Amino acid sequence: MFDHLSDRLAETFKRLKGHGKLTEQNIADAMREVRLALLEADVNYKVVKDFISQVKKRAVGQEVMRSITPAQMVIKIVHDELCTLMGKEGEPLVLTGKSPLVYMMVGLQGAGKTTTSAKLALNLKKRGKKPFLVPADVQRPAAIEQLKRLGKQVDVPVFDTDPGQDPVDICIASLADAARAECDVLILDTAGRLHVDEALMAQLKAIKERLHPQEALLVADSMTGQDAVNVAQSFHQSLGLTGVVLTKVEGDARGGAAISIRAVVDVPIKFLGVGEKLDALEVFHPDRLANRILGMGDVLSLVEKASEAIDQEKAEALAKKMAKNQFTLEDFRDQLRQIRKMGSLDSILKMLPGAGKLKNMKNMAPDEKEIKRIEAIIGSMTVAERQNHNIINASRRKRIAKGSGTTVTDVNRLLKNFRQSQKMMKQMARMGPKKGLGKMLS
Ligand code: GDP
Repeated sequence: MFDHLSDRLAETFKRLKGHGKLTEQNIADAMREVRLALLEADVNYKVVKDFISQVKKRAVGQEVMRSITPAQMVIKIVHDELCTLMGKEGEPLVLTGKSPLVYMMVGLQGAGKTTTSAKLALNLKKRGKKPFLVPADVQRPAAIEQLKRLGKQVDVPVFDTDPGQDPVDICIASLADAARAECDVLILDTAGRLHVDEALMAQLKAIKERLHPQEALLVADSMTGQDAVNVAQSFHQSLGLTGVVLTKVEGDARGGAAISIRAVVDVPIKFLGVGEKLDALEVFHPDRLANRILGMGDVLSLVEKASEAIDQEKAEALAKKMAKNQFTLEDFRDQLRQIRKMGSLDSILKMLPGAGKLKNMKNMAPDEKEIKRIEAIIGSMTVAERQNHNIINASRRKRIAKGSGTTVTDVNRLLKNFRQSQKMMKQMARMGPKKGLGKMLS
């Protein structure tokens, strides 16, 4: 799935190595490659253009965080923009409303409409719904039999369609049967054509007007690339879609339709069909697909954690304070909060290259419970106490212990630890960055 695109992007990012800062030139070089990769993947031309300009805007001049290479930074930006393009959170199926809910499946012949109707029925069954399948494609007589067969396989009732009837009447008649079978979702498998045509649209519109479906889902074949996008555009203009199911995605090495549809047509992809079997239907998550395309989940989570937690200015200010020996209990608390934001120190170290050597650092991090206790104690101090721990006498200690639900022993231990860290920082600051922490880690 999307192998071509993944390989091309991986090649591009490899070449970005070795720069300390993202310059306009190295971004421009990389973006030229990304642009080609996306065009080769059959992503819509205009979508590519906007995408590239957006990534450039975010990347140029961006300070690269320590422990992260410029390539990793660019991967993260490309990933975020891919997610935005495909709809960020992803849009779930409408599952509430007057019973029965009505889902109308539309699309061209051969896209996978009948198969997807049965897949969707199975998916809904797993979510505790009671679906009812309605064959409303009387153009292709085999379609009725096909859906009946598939319905049996997923153990979902199928309406006994009379092929001589009008599709609108079939859909209306199916409502009573669905109610009798105590089903709560109607899945209408409507007719397809080889091409979009007026008569088909008129029929689909008539069904939509009478049945008021909560979902009008276009089933489109992702292997057809930009054609799938054009089909989506036509159906949306004539009928108004609520979502798209892209099929045969597992065989699509390029991925152009998946990346472009949302941006061009403004309709979310809701599912991906990833095989002929009836359980081969996946809920669409833009972020997961972006991860798959970039194939670098570990890098992404590392950059995410680092960018969420490390505030460059704060770190610099802290370094200055350390050098001047002005490190206070407030700074101590900020540091603990940063560690908490980034997850356990252990899991962070695992993601860094060469971190195996740092095994003994694990024990330096306090555990979650301890961090909470320390936060509570510092939270119970006055500002003056936090800024100058020397004023914390016996009666203040008692008050702080009471306020934080801890004991005086806990408060004493914290103050002792704090003094020790302060001392250590003073020593490190005196050694300078090359001899201090830098040396400890190398
Ligand atoms: P319809 O004419 O739109 O109703 O299409 P069908 O449901 O009959 O499907 C056409 C062909 O596509 C069948 O052979 C299906 O098995 C196949 N198909 C449907 N969805 C997928 C999918 O996600 N992956 C693959 N590989 N084949 C699919």
